[in-house]
Amino acid sequence: MARIVMKFGGTSVADLDRIRNVARFVRREVDDGHSVIVVVSAMSGQTNALVALAEEAGPAAAALDARYVEYDAIVSTGEQVTSGLLALVLQNLGYRARSWQGWQLPTETDQRHGRARILRIPEEPLGSAIDSGEIAIVAGFQGVSENSRITTLGRGGSDTTAVALAAAIHADRCDIYTDVDGVYTTDPRITKQARRIDRISYEEMLEMASVGAKVLQTRSVELAMAYNVRLRVLSSFDPPDAPGQGTIICDEEEIVEQQIVSAVTPALDEAKISLLAVRDEPGRAAKIFTLLADANINVDMIVQSPSRDPGAANISFTMTEADLDRAVELLTVQKEAIGYSTLQKDHNVAKISVIGVGMKSHAGVASTMFQILAERGINIQNISTSEIKISVLIDSEYTELAVRALHQAYGLDKANSAA
Ligand code: ASP
Ligand code: MG
Repeated sequence: MARIVMKFGGTSVADLDRIRNVARFVRREVDDGHSVIVVVSAMSGQTNALVALAEEAGPAAAALDARYVEYDAIVSTGEQVTSGLLALVLQNLGYRARSWQGWQLPTETDQRHGRARILRIPEEPLGSAIDSGEIAIVAGFQGVSENSRITTLGRGGSDTTAVALAAAIHADRCDIYTDVDGVYTTDPRITKQARRIDRISYEEMLEMASVGAKVLQTRSVELAMAYNVRLRVLSSFDPPDAPGQGTIICDEEEIVEQQIVSAVTPALDEAKISLLAVRDEPGRAAKIFTLLADANINVDMIVQSPSRDPGAANISFTMTEADLDRAVELLTVQKEAIGYSTLQKDHNVAKISVIGVGMKSHAGVASTMFQILAERGINIQNISTSEIKISVLIDSEYTELAVRALHQAYGLDKANSAA
C-alpha cells in the first residue's frame, strides 16, 4: 500500500461532469488499496473571476498591503468549493471522503499575502486519516498565517500545495493531472513536431517553469527538487482506466538517454524597456532596479552597453507584459532622480529559451542557436544564460520561425527521435 498525492487543475474540475470524471481516477487508486490525498484547484476561470471581484471592491496596491489579507480570503474560496464537491461526489459513490481546508491541516505559511510561502505542514492528522481508508480532498493554493489569517500561494499555487503535502506525508508518488498529457519539447501549438518528454530532470523543469512554460508553478518544482518528490504530469482527459504515461520529473541520474537540449521554450508575454543615456556612475542601476523591486516587478535579461553620449550608458531589461505599464510609470516619475534621457518600451518581443542539462558538458549549444537565428535573419536583442539554459530576446513576429528552426536543429523533431 502506497501513499499517493493526486492533484487536479482547474480544467480537470471545470464542472460537475469533470469532477465526476476526477472521481473515477481517484477510485482507481483507492480500489488498488492506496492511501490517497487529492489536491484540487478552483474550477477553471473561478480564480480569475474572484480576483476581478476583489479588485473591483478595492485594488490592493502592493503585495504586503493590508488589503491583500482580504484578497486571500476571497480568492481562496474557489478551492473550498471544489474540495467539498469532490468529497460529496465520492461519498455518493459509497467512499469515505472528506474535504480539508488549508487551516485544518494546517498548511502553515508566512504572512506574504497573495504569494505566501509554506513553512510547514504536519504529517498528522492527515496521515492517519488517509491510512484509515478515508480519502482526503485538500483545497489547494491556500494556507494559514501565524495570525490565523487565510493566505494564498500565488497563481498556480495548487501545484505547490500538492508537492508540499507529498513531502510532508512521505508520499510514494505525486501525480499532477492537467489538460495536457505531459511536458513537451516545445509548445505543440507552434509545431506539430513537438514531442512529449518521458523523463525530465528537476533542474530542466525548473528552468522551463521559470521561463514561462505554464505546466507547473515554479515553486512546486523547487520544492520537489529539494525534497526529492517524484512528480508525474499527466492528463485527466485520458480514459480513467488507462491514463497515459505522462512525464516523470526526477533526478538527472535517473535519465538514461539524456539529450543535450531537452526543450525549446517560447515566452510571448515579455516586454522590454530601454533607458538611454543613463549617467554612468555608481548607484544608477541600483536606483532603477530597487525602484522596480519595491514595486514587486520582476526584472529579467538586463543588458548595459555604452551610450553614444560620453559618460553615459544604455540599460535595457525585460519584464512580463503585465508589468510594463507600471514600470514605465514608475521610471517616468523618477526620470530626474535616475538621470536618463529617453525611455523606450517595446511589448513586441519574445524570449526563446533552449534548455538542457547536457549543456554543462557540451560546447557549441549557444553558437548553434545564434547561427540558426542568423541564417533566418532574426536579430537577437538581449541574451541571458544559466548553466543549463540560453535565452534570447527577439522580435515576437519571428517566434514561430525561431522555435521551429531551433527545435529541428537540436534534434528534437519527431522524425529524428523515431530514428
Ligand atoms: N486556482 C488558483 C489559480 O488559478 C491556484 C491553482 O489553480 O493552482 O491560480
Ligand atoms: Mg496550473
